[in-house]
Amino acid sequence: MAVSPIPGTVFGPRTILHHMRAARLHEYTEAMDDALSIDDVDTPQVNQADHVVVDIEGAGWCQTDNHAIEGMWEQYMPQDLPMTLGHENAGTVVETGDGVSTVEEGEQVICHTVMTCGTCRPCRLGEDMHCENIQFPGLSTDGGFADQLLTNERAVIPLPDGVDTTDIAPHADAGITAYHAVKLAARELNPGDHAVVIGVGGLGHIGLQCLNAMSPVTITAVDVKNSALDLADDLGAHHTVNPSEADVADEIDDLTDGNGAHQILDFVGSDETTALAPDVVAAGGDHYVVGYGGHVHEPSQALVNGDFSYQGTLVGQYTELQELVALVERGDVDLRTSRYNLGEINDVAAKLDRGEIEGRAVITP
Ligand SMILES: [Zn+2]
Ligand SMILES: [Zn+2]
Repeated sequence: MAVSPIPGTVFGPRTILHHMRAARLHEYTEAMDDALSIDDVDTPQVNQADHVVVDIEGAGWCQTDNHAIEGMWEQYMPQDLPMTLGHENAGTVVETGDGVSTVEEGEQVICHTVMTCGTCRPCRLGEDMHCENIQFPGLSTDGGFADQLLTNERAVIPLPDGVDTTDIAPHADAGITAYHAVKLAARELNPGDHAVVIGVGGLGHIGLQCLNAMSPVTITAVDVKNSALDLADDLGAHHTVNPSEADVADEIDDLTDGNGAHQILDFVGSDETTALAPDVVAAGGDHYVVGYGGHVHEPSQALVNGDFSYQGTLVGQYTELQELVALVERGDVDLRTSRYNLGEINDVAAKLDRGEIEGRAVITP
């Protein structure tokens, strides 16, 4: 093989190192409109047998990216700045390690958010998010707001023919997170029960559709934006409540003859939304905290008297991403997306911060 000293190109043992663009965080900041810089970096290199490099065709922008920019993840994930954000990725496999047998070059995949080892005890139990050797591209290693992403074989789920990788990308996190919470809630829901979906944004609009597909319940959607409630209405919510116009507890009380809602799916997780639980959760029910950023401040006696629980949820298992892809293929879940190129990424960050993104923004590097 001829090795030519092209400037900016380095030849490794098996791969040519090229450069690519990546949107990277250099320092934590509150200034979303100037948070990331588009840097010229080396393309990822396969250096483990299970590594997979994916050419990114869609990378969803998530509220978690805003929180990462603010430094909220530093205490939960080892972060070495500068780091490329982006954890909702899908695209085409361009290179695989020697040990990879389930996907090959040219195959379209969605990338689960985390790379796990497969052999620690949580992995053996199927608790992928609790892996003792977890890596989280976009939060602990370089993510997908770039031309290419390094992940591993366990994390990539092949997509059925005809699925648009850009449109499906947000399911890698937003979708699976919503699905996982709904699957837990659905186990406790019986026909005729009432469920409440709080926040019909990026996650909530997916959660609402999953709930409709998986559980024969009456659904009330709650959001402070009337446009979000219109979307909820479109997607099958039976009732909608805007807390800035009506008292949520009174409305749920009326709708359930005073019994309350059996399961709450809270995709906001603010002080105000978690404070609803004592007044709206039916006895024995659960308030799933999926969105985050606020605090839970309820008296312990409220939980005892109401016999309800707050349950946090974190993303979901690889198998759940397969199940969600199946729901998408059946036509049960329609993701509302808008597309932006990599150069517009700070505008997207600022827009989401101001609540101006409907559905999910997807970056197309
Ligand atoms: Zn996300
Ligand atoms: Zn593990």
